[in-house]
Amino acid sequence: MAEKKDKYCPKCNQKADEKDKYCVHCGTPLFNGCSNKGDLFKKKCSTINRDNAAYCSSCGAPTEYYLQGLVHGTKINYDREERR
Ligand SMILES: [Zn+2]
Ligand SMILES: [Zn+2]
Repeated sequence: MAEKKDKYCPKCNQKADEKDKYCVHCGTPLFNGCSNKGDLFKKKCSTINRDNAAYCSSCGAPTEYYLQGLVHGTKINYDREERR
């Protein structure tokens, strides 16, 4: 039962190796991780979400795919610059 599922980059659609974490063609993460890297009050969230998840199922933070505009039907406006 060696079922092998091909994995494709959500951005450029190039075939990726099963074990790849990032697309070797464009650098897009191949797993829809959580963008919550933690701060003083929160712990880092390392949940891997479904490919079409715009928000993390564990903590509600936007997912990496969502931030990169890769989730279908949602698009984030990235004109805004974050200031510190
Ligand atoms: Zn790619
Ligand atoms: Zn999370």
